[in-house]
Amino acid sequence: MSSIAIVWYRRDLRVHDHPALAAAVAEHDRVVPLFVCDPRFADGRYASPRRAGYMRSALHALDAQLQERGGRLFFRDGDPATVIPALADELGARTVLWTSDVSRYARDRDARVTEALGGRTGDGGRARPMPGNSIVDVARIATQAGGPYTVFSPFHRTWQQAPRRPIHPAPQEIRTPTILSTGRLEPGTHDDTAGEAHARAAADRWLHGPADRYAQRHDDLSGGTSQLSPHLRWGTLSPLALEQRAARAGHDAFTRQLAWRDFYAHVLLHEIGSKRPDPAWDADRDHELLDAWRDGRTGYPLVDAGMRQLARTGWMHNRARLVVGSFLTKDLHLDWRLGEMHFARELLDGELAQNNGNWRWIASVGVDPAPPARRMFNPTLQQRRFDPDGSYVRRWVPELERVPADLLPEPWTMTDAQQRDAGCVIGRDYPAPIVDHAVERRRAIELFARGQ
Ligand SMILES: Cc1cc2nc3c(=O)[nH]c(=O)nc-3n(C[C@H](O)[C@H](O)[C@H](O)COP(=O)(O)OP(=O)(O)OC[C@H]3O[C@@H](n4cnc5c(N)ncnc54)[C@H](O)[C@@H]3O)c2cc1C
Repeated sequence: MSSIAIVWYRRDLRVHDHPALAAAVAEHDRVVPLFVCDPRFADGRYASPRRAGYMRSALHALDAQLQERGGRLFFRDGDPATVIPALADELGARTVLWTSDVSRYARDRDARVTEALGGRTGDGGRARPMPGNSIVDVARIATQAGGPYTVFSPFHRTWQQAPRRPIHPAPQEIRTPTILSTGRLEPGTHDDTAGEAHARAAADRWLHGPADRYAQRHDDLSGGTSQLSPHLRWGTLSPLALEQRAARAGHDAFTRQLAWRDFYAHVLLHEIGSKRPDPAWDADRDHELLDAWRDGRTGYPLVDAGMRQLARTGWMHNRARLVVGSFLTKDLHLDWRLGEMHFARELLDGELAQNNGNWRWIASVGVDPAPPARRMFNPTLQQRRFDPDGSYVRRWVPELERVPADLLPEPWTMTDAQQRDAGCVIGRDYPAPIVDHAVERRRAIELFARGQ
């Protein structure tokens, strides 16, 4: 009798190096690659129409990849714990495979699906979680005492030594059942960049060129990083295959950065709480400040450039993320969760583990908190250092385009004549700073000291 397996896709939208798909194809006659549109995501706390559109594009691209190999992607709507066991029963599927995940929501959902499938395959049931979302198995990384890591550097040392699973080529042929309705998915919104083919081409371009200069250039605001994060977020690129290629080419600084992604997955899996209590954030401080931050109207050019890049493209350079995060928490004294929520809505790479871990890092309340003053960035100095010719700021804040480079980090210091010459009157064409960084820095240190 022919056997059928379901491969339940979630945020692993590829055919190359996909352990669940590879196992299903190797061990079963027919495979049903399935995506379940869970309505809880569209209504959830971190819902993002922009990211959902990108995901749909990546799903259509996955469907095309599967079709090239004779298969198809099937779509269903509803609660996976109901939909998947019902489909497994309808098809007489022996196994349901998926790429395991780390968030509490994902683990609870997967536990419900597992239960509805009668348990795991090894225990007589039909559920089979597989690796694929991280480079190493983050559940297996442990300190010598057997606990989870809370500090990146020792995690990284262990991570470097941890075993890597084999890389799986894409299956050559995928045989899906012929009489099963495929279901429907609305069109996506990012067909020009989303999906595995784009991801692989972007990774090739990166590794064959600019990756060489990553160590020197990654903080350069006008480039210098891979911009592969949306692909890693949606699994259109295998993090392990990327790491192995980068490691072979000796791109150590880049592979170290990839390890941060595994680190925050490890932190989320173990639900490691903050080591320092939150200071008393200005809960009811003027929300105009939050709006100004969100809209890129703070009067600090680098902060505004970052926030506008995010609004326009759904991506922001890491250095700018650090500066805007520091500004929200240490200059405006607003709760980092407001920033986390905004990023979660806007970022194409928005992902709980990375977003939450990095926001707690910059707010100095994370698992590995340095003294708050060490993670307090002066937006003016950061701009002088990482955007010395002003090209990043000019690109995203066009009203400052004609401001001379030496005045660009502090446009409010321009004389009236200089403002006229630059065609930018402060307070009219571009805002005056909404707060004074030097004053707010002292206040942040006090607030954190009081919170101890
Ligand atoms: C406040 C804040 C929020 C963030 N939220 C997210 C998020 O929701 N999703 C997300 O993927 N990254 C997040 N980051 C981390 C980082 O900014 C992005 O991963 C990076 O900017 C993506 O650009 P890139 O692909 O060019 O990175 P590269 O520098 O080319 O790095 C390669 C890959 O390594 C991983 N990586 C790099 N830096 C980090 C880091 N600090 N933490 C975790 N992984 C990292 C990413 O997967 C990235 O794609 C956040 C950073 C900050 C400061």
